[in-house]
Amino acid sequence: MSQLFGAIEAGGTKFICAVGSGPDNIRAKLRIPTTTPKETLSLAMAFFHEQEETHGPLAAIGISAFGPIDPHPTSPHFGYITTTPKLAWQYAPLVPMVREEFAVPIGFDTDVNGAALGEQRWGAAQGLDTFVYLTIGTGIGGGGMVNGELLHGLMHPEMGHMYINHDWERDPFPGVCPFHGDCWEGLANGPALAARWKQPGESFPPDHEAWLLEAHYVALGLVNIISILSPQRIILGGGVMSQPHIFPLIRREVRHQVKGYIQMEELNEKIDDFIVPPGLGNQSGLLGSIALAQKALAQSA
Ligand code: ZN
Repeated sequence: MSQLFGAIEAGGTKFICAVGSGPDNIRAKLRIPTTTPKETLSLAMAFFHEQEETHGPLAAIGISAFGPIDPHPTSPHFGYITTTPKLAWQYAPLVPMVREEFAVPIGFDTDVNGAALGEQRWGAAQGLDTFVYLTIGTGIGGGGMVNGELLHGLMHPEMGHMYINHDWERDPFPGVCPFHGDCWEGLANGPALAARWKQPGESFPPDHEAWLLEAHYVALGLVNIISILSPQRIILGGGVMSQPHIFPLIRREVRHQVKGYIQMEELNEKIDDFIVPPGLGNQSGLLGSIALAQKALAQSA
């Protein structure tokens, strides 16, 4: 009998919980609105208890969460969401709250690192050890692996908040990041797209100039990431990227901006396999949480 794992994809507007062991075995799933830590977590815990009665005990639980978070197991705030602008969730002790109810290994990481792990296990990053997963939607977040290890370091990457070239003449829009204004996220997330053109992003036709500017900005960030981390592949998920027509525009812009400096086939004839959508669709984060649970179990053995 295969082991079952609990998964929580903790997002800023909703928590998605599931019990299963992989893409072909999800036994149950529940969506909970993100209200307060106490309320949201108690619904999640009730769901897991209920599932255990039907399916037997969970072997481990994985949580991938919006951040910033503290991912360091030796830190006093390990497992907390930390300085988020969502006030009710500042210093919310996510892992300790789960641990109070379930005496099993708990895996914990950022939403994008979780999604990256899911993509490596079952999706578009199988067989790779250095790659990046980005979500471009309400925010821009990036995670991934270098040499087989999920990226943490000082805290965890905050790729969305890098600065990129902002040509104020071409684009006088000041950006929407509450901290930086025109950082990458501030210029290129979904809300920026909607605010700059004063209409929701999904309402632009594919040939609208909004997409050209969006592809330009996304590519500027990707070229920085390519230059710094040397990823073997870049996976782009999130709401803005659910428009398939933007992928060719981004690939073209990346090639244009690299200007022939990096002579790898991945940046030339094979670029369609280098900048790709998630192999798991919009399930990378949830399945990634299962992968985090499995990893936590393996590490505890
Ligand atoms: Zn920012």
